[in-house]
Amino acid sequence: EERIISSRMTADDEPVEFSLRPRYLSDYIGQSRVKENLKIYIEAAKMRKETLDHVLLYGPPGLGKTTLSHIIANELGVSVRTTAGPAIERPGDLAAILTNLQPGDLLFIDEIHRLNRSVEEVLYPAMEDFALDIVIGKGPSARSVRLDLPPFTLVGATTRAGSLSSPLRDRFGVVSRLEYYTVEELTLIVERAADLLQVGIREEGAAEIASRARGTPRVANRLLKRVRDFVQVQGDGVITGETARDALDRIQVDKLGLDQVDHKLLLSIMQHFRGGPVGLETIAATIGEEAHTVEDVYEPFLMQIGFLQRTPRGRMVTPRCYQHFGVEMPK
Ligand code: ADP
Repeated sequence: EERIISSRMTADDEPVEFSLRPRYLSDYIGQSRVKENLKIYIEAAKMRKETLDHVLLYGPPGLGKTTLSHIIANELGVSVRTTAGPAIERPGDLAAILTNLQPGDLLFIDEIHRLNRSVEEVLYPAMEDFALDIVIGKGPSARSVRLDLPPFTLVGATTRAGSLSSPLRDRFGVVSRLEYYTVEELTLIVERAADLLQVGIREEGAAEIASRARGTPRVANRLLKRVRDFVQVQGDGVITGETARDALDRIQVDKLGLDQVDHKLLLSIMQHFRGGPVGLETIAATIGEEAHTVEDVYEPFLMQIGFLQRTPRGRMVTPRCYQHFGVEMPK
């Protein structure tokens, strides 16, 4: 079962996320640098009546990449076509998507680092010249024909900008990194979500949820839903600082947003590996997750709060982590 603090989308999140998604830049909280730049590029593209340059959004899951891609489309007044790297298996699949776009459309490709090489090669001329190169025939008589595509904007999202091939990365005119949100920003996000879900909430309640949400709106929204269940069944339906604290303690998400699995992972590095370095595979095995999930979904936050470091020889916990758990550091 997915952990409650996971920043990955689950089937359970889907209907709520859809209704909570901000629709325009003005309702998108935080990420001010990214927002301000996009606003200018969008304005400029509209003034010139051109398509917006291709945009690459990167950062951990749940920070609002998909949301932002829809916002860009709304601001431009165009439609979005959504797909994901692993869903496009063959070059022909991508060619079909591209030839079906309407002029000006926005194509969103999530997990773009997972496109395979042959599919990626279709994307190069499409991004650069709005063209599709098709090979007709086989062997010595094969020839290449170039087809025009409607102009479009590609928005790619990835958790790892480093895994993108450089020819692909170079074809994005705008590259923006999304950052973890501050507690203040997340408090506003929780208040807005509570409002849309029609749950009463006090500011301390929103702040309590925000401070345990790992800098991530998706986690904040999920914690809000759980806390709402508690206050509706056991309280008067209004989320206060105290009811939020009780509910979050009950579901075992601590003050920093760490759950039991994080505790297990960090304690095991301290107690069985003298604080590290320990390999990613070993860590993954300890908590029964896949290595890439640990790397993309769980570790970035532990590094963000300064509990874990990646070194060439493996992962190490920091003095701050020892302090938090009250474990004595090895000499
Ligand atoms: P990603 O694509 O990066 O995994 P999403 O765009 O799906 O993340 O965002 C997850 C959820 O978090 C959204 O459905 C939305 O409700 C909420 N969210 C994300 N960013 C913001 C924001 N800046 N302001 C308000 N809500 C946000």
